[in-house]
Amino acid sequence: MDDFYRELIIDRYKNPLFKGELDPNDISFEDENPLCGDRIRIDIRLDKFGNVSEAVFSGEGCAISQAAADLLLEEIMGKSIEGLKAVSKDNVLDLLGIDLGPVRLKCALLSLKVLKSGVYGLGESVDAD
Ligand code: ZN
Repeated sequence: MDDFYRELIIDRYKNPLFKGELDPNDISFEDENPLCGDRIRIDIRLDKFGNVSEAVFSGEGCAISQAAADLLLEEIMGKSIEGLKAVSKDNVLDLLGIDLGPVRLKCALLSLKVLKSGVYGLGESVDAD
């Protein structure tokens, strides 16, 4: 079981499905994990209903940080803002499927932190819908 997830992480690190940049975008945020040198920016476009229609990440870092970002963006496709707010640490850890120590945990959760910062940084007009 662990081998499956390890291969998944390496595969998504080497061949990410959601890597790139969106300009213009509706949500964009960037942050880093200085412990490991991981840096991730996430750009999101919303459709007219306010659901995620496109989401990509850019940046660099270790395999876990980059694979977690790629898997997270796949997971959030089509979600509403409320749906994005509801994504939890456990969701991300389930996607990765391997046990992580405290240092690697910061790598794994960087993309979620970036996503949440971007979502909660939105104007009230979007929040109120
Ligand atoms: Zn890392």
